[in-house]
Amino acid sequence: MRRKIAAGNWKMNGTAAALSEVTAMGENLPPAPPTVVICPPAPLLSQACVVSMPFGIQIGGQDCHAEASGAFTGDTSAAMVADSGATYVIVGHSERRDAYRETDADVAAKAQAAWTAGLTAIVCVGEDLEQRTSGKTLDVIKAQLSGSVPDGASDDTLVVAYEPVWAIGTGKVPELAQIEEVHDFIRAELTSRFGAETSDRISLLYGGSVKAENAATIFQAANVDGALVGGASLKAADFSPIIAAL
Ligand code: PEP
Repeated sequence: MRRKIAAGNWKMNGTAAALSEVTAMGENLPPAPPTVVICPPAPLLSQACVVSMPFGIQIGGQDCHAEASGAFTGDTSAAMVADSGATYVIVGHSERRDAYRETDADVAAKAQAAWTAGLTAIVCVGEDLEQRTSGKTLDVIKAQLSGSVPDGASDDTLVVAYEPVWAIGTGKVPELAQIEEVHDFIRAELTSRFGAETSDRISLLYGGSVKAENAATIFQAANVDGALVGGASLKAADFSPIIAAL
């Protein structure tokens, strides 16, 4: 069975006071909850782990450096993320691919560093609007997957998040058939690379304007095992219904 995962990416939002939302999420978990992962800003990782622990909510970083240590001012290594108590890390988010010019090779190196540190890497892939409208979506996903996911992936180490860039923070969501097409394609790509047994166990998340109102519909899509949620993960009032819909 694949893990169902509701992951929240807080981006550069929240100070320590926001951790009360994690408590509220924990207090509102359904009886048999999916895996819930909150990815707060790096300075909050340790405190978030303390707050989330009683509820079994997992904490993840939003990025990590590929190197273990060194002269990389402002960066956080995967070992530091793991040392905080976090168990997941997002790599290759489209905002980092865009703003920091991260390449597939950079993302693969970060995922590898995450694995070395014992973290599960949530590897993000997704096409932009121009690529979608010109019919290149599956080519883009294929190239990103093969370039960003290192060899030797397993369900313990890898989660793939399909996040169409044009759906992130825009309120636009692909048709269910479009989500299914890409998720089926990702599953097939993972199968051809890692074999059916491994591929069948790797969770695939959809991300991009997931809200309480559309979550249940999105979760009906074949090969959608959960969501990576930005804006609607900041408040328990918004995120708890998404968790409950899984
Ligand atoms: C994200 O940033 O990963 C994301 C999916 O954002 P939003 O849910 O706000 O579209």
